[in-house]
Formats: sequence, structure tokens, C-alpha cells
Amino acid sequence: MTENLFSFEQGPIRPPNEARSLLLRFTRNCPWNQCLFCPVYKNRKFSLRTVDEIKKDIQTARDMADDIKAVSWKLGFSGAINDQVISHILNISGHSQGYQSIAAWLYYGTGSCFLQDADNLVMKTRDLVEVLKYLREKFPEITRVTTYSRSRTVVRKSVDSLKQIREAGLDRIHIGLESGYDPVLKLIKKGVTSAQHIEAGQKVIQAGMELSEYIMPGLGGQEMWKEHAVETAMVLNRINPHFIRLRSLRVPKKVPLYEKVKDGTFTMQTDDMLADEILLFIETLEGITSTITSDHIMNLLEEVSGRLPEDKEKMLDVIRKYQELPESDRLIYRVGRLGGAYRSTDDLTRDPATYEKVKSLLQDIQAKEGIHGVEKFITDMVDRYV
Ligand code: SF4
Repeated sequence: MTENLFSFEQGPIRPPNEARSLLLRFTRNCPWNQCLFCPVYKNRKFSLRTVDEIKKDIQTARDMADDIKAVSWKLGFSGAINDQVISHILNISGHSQGYQSIAAWLYYGTGSCFLQDADNLVMKTRDLVEVLKYLREKFPEITRVTTYSRSRTVVRKSVDSLKQIREAGLDRIHIGLESGYDPVLKLIKKGVTSAQHIEAGQKVIQAGMELSEYIMPGLGGQEMWKEHAVETAMVLNRINPHFIRLRSLRVPKKVPLYEKVKDGTFTMQTDDMLADEILLFIETLEGITSTITSDHIMNLLEEVSGRLPEDKEKMLDVIRKYQELPESDRLIYRVGRLGGAYRSTDDLTRDPATYEKVKSLLQDIQAKEGIHGVEKFITDMVDRYV
């Protein structure tokens, strides 16, 4: 077997919770590609893939999975993909990245599959249904299939079409809602209105699919943060999605929004301001049963997660606890969290060694470069993740 004969296409990103999913690419890049905060597909051209191309990739992925199971049999593990099989495969050079990713998928055994790239609902319903059925036929062990789409694309599909897509095997759609406030949506060139977000979300749910809405704290800047928090919550109150996922805005130089930050027309929220904003956002969520997650490393407070309505107070308490910390501890927590060492404000006392290390690091930076140096250090650290 050679690498050339045995590979298939994969795209650049997937949601954080799909890290262990089988990744298959149904379309390439983003058909919209204009959001000012998004660096992912800039300078890459969108293209549809043909039904034949996609089927060929699915067949290749199937052949790889069978090949990997055959390796397991040969090693005496009866088809199981365990530590020995995975290290045997990873130690052999010449396997494509796709082959290795299938091996990892079988090893983790999640049964889930994420379809890349940014907006697969843009495919003709007939084509999408055909490839989804093929995928389910070739991989009966898959238990969940999810994809990204845009509200603007979803509103163009009828509920009947969405039902056909669900019946063919698509279980969940991730949508980048980002904001429910029209002036913010316009400013960041999302290409969609809050009314369209509501219509799209309601249609997905009516069609019987799971819906995951991404929202972006910070996207209103200091100019519109209150309206952004309140109106976004109000839009979500009308949709009641299964999942609300928080991913805070960060603006490194490579994203177009940086220009507005530079010319002073957009002012970033500080981390402390973001805490106020998320508090207001969660307070405004009412009458829904969504599960909230903050599983992105760019989020300051990962513990803002739980099911509404029962966990609402618990989530608000996480934020209040951060707000009540002395300023110096908030700073230490920010560095620990955004540097990947802390997952909770409790870690400040739970892990004294890290606390002391971060404290002395900050004292050094502050002595040399002042508080601006500290803020720059934190910004540079977080911008790596974008
Ligand atoms: S629709 Fe999504 S992928 Fe496309 S530019 Fe906007 S955020 Fe990026």
C-alpha cells in the first residue's frame, strides 16, 4: 500500500467537541468567507465536491478502517484497536495523515463523524442525501453525524428538505450565530440577520435535528456589549437550541477586524468586562432548556457550563466568584487559565506551586514593562489559539 493510493481529503478545522470524530470533507472552505473575526478560510476559494469524489473518499476511509482492523487481527488482538495496535500503526512511516486519523478514531471509539468544511447545507439536498446515505451504509458503526452550516443557508431549505437530510443520517448542525444584535452582525459582516438566525434555528429543530449555536462574547466591543449580550440571549430564547457554545472573541493581527481595532472604531472588551457581559447574557436567557458549554481554550471561565434552567445559578456563581477575586488574583488566574494551567478559579488555591510561579512571572514582566506589558503578554499568549 502506498500513501498516494491510500489517502482522502480533510479540511483545516472542526469544533472542539469533535476532536475525536471521524473527519470527512464534503465541501471545501467557506462559501461566505467574509466574517471580520474569522481567519480560517481567508485566501482559500470555496468549492463544492462532486458526489463521486465524496463517495470515493468515504470508500477510502472504509478501506483504511478495514485495513487497520486487519492489522489488529495479525497482531493477535481480534480486530480491537488498542494501545499496542495504535502505537504499531503510528510507528510505521509512510501512512497518510488520513490513515492515522482513522486509526485514532477507531482507537477512541467515539462513533461520531464530523463533516467538513464551513457550510455543507449549501449542497443540493439531493446530493447531500445521497452521500449521507452512502456514509451510513459504509460505516454502520457511526452513531452520530454532525456538520457546520450558516443560518443564511439553512433558511433557504424547506423543513421537508431538512427532514430528508436528517433521515439520510445528519444528526446535528453547528451554526455560528455569534450575535443576535443586528448592528453587530452588520459590523462584523456575518451576512445574516437576527430574524434569519431565529428562522434557521427553529427550522433545524422542527426537522428533528440537534442544534448547536456558537456565540461570541466580546463581539459587540465596548461600544455595543450590552445590546450584544441581551439581544443574543433573546434570539436564543426564541430558538431553544440543544447546545449554546461560548467562544470569546480574540483579535490577532491576521483577522480583518484588527484594522478596526487599530483605527479605533472597535474597542476590545477586557477579560473583566467579558465576565460582566457573560453574566448579563446568562441572566437574560429565559424559558429554554439548552446545555451551555465554554469548552474553547479562549474562554476565561470554562466552568460556565450546565443545563438550563437548573444550572443557571451555578453558572452565574462561577462568574461572580471570579469577579470577587482581588485584582492581583484575577490577573494570576487569567494567565494560568489562558496559558492552559488552570481550569477553575479554585485552582488558585488548589495549586500553590503554579500560583507562585505565575505571580513571580507577572512581577518580573510588570517591573520591566508595567501593566501594559502584562496585558500584552496575555494577549499574545491567547492569540496563538486563533
Ligand atoms: S461563515 Fe464561518 S467559516 Fe465562513 S467566514 Fe464566517 S465564521 Fe468564517
